[in-house]
Amino acid sequence: MRSDIDAARNNTLVFARAAAVTRPTDSDFMRRALELAREAQQRGEVPVGAVIVKDGAVIAEGFNRPISSNDPTAHAEIVAMRAAAATLASYRLLDATLYVTLEPCAMCAGAMVHARIKRLVYGASDPRAGAAGSIFNVANHSALNHRIECDGGLLYEECAALLKTFFTAKR
Ligand SMILES: [Zn+2]
Repeated sequence: MRSDIDAARNNTLVFARAAAVTRPTDSDFMRRALELAREAQQRGEVPVGAVIVKDGAVIAEGFNRPISSNDPTAHAEIVAMRAAAATLASYRLLDATLYVTLEPCAMCAGAMVHARIKRLVYGASDPRAGAAGSIFNVANHSALNHRIECDGGLLYEECAALLKTFFTAKR
């Protein structure tokens, strides 16, 4: 009897370890956002990429494309949120996490609040326009009816280097 219980316990441990190995991490999702940022760069757009994850899986992706789309709102986060909303057939992205290589601007952070995004993970902070605390705090403001959990600085160096290289090349 006791050995059955021990065996069951061992199985549980084995499964738990397997899950820990295979489950994608925040860094995995941010690396995908970085790949998308490079796609934007190849099109001559400011290199920013975004990924939306729900229940541990990517449900939508986007990269910055306002110039090629003739659309001032086509930031990576907006592109990804539009795709996610279409996929879920819902204007609210409940329990979703948005990963983006650069701290969102006021427009994107505002749209995330409207979408009820649960959590925001961003790479580089934006000291000129960031709306997750750097300049404004739209993403998590006590006066708003929805507050997003914000985690900044993930893969900061890679995210910032991509932007720095882009702007250095432009000047
Ligand atoms: Zn934006």
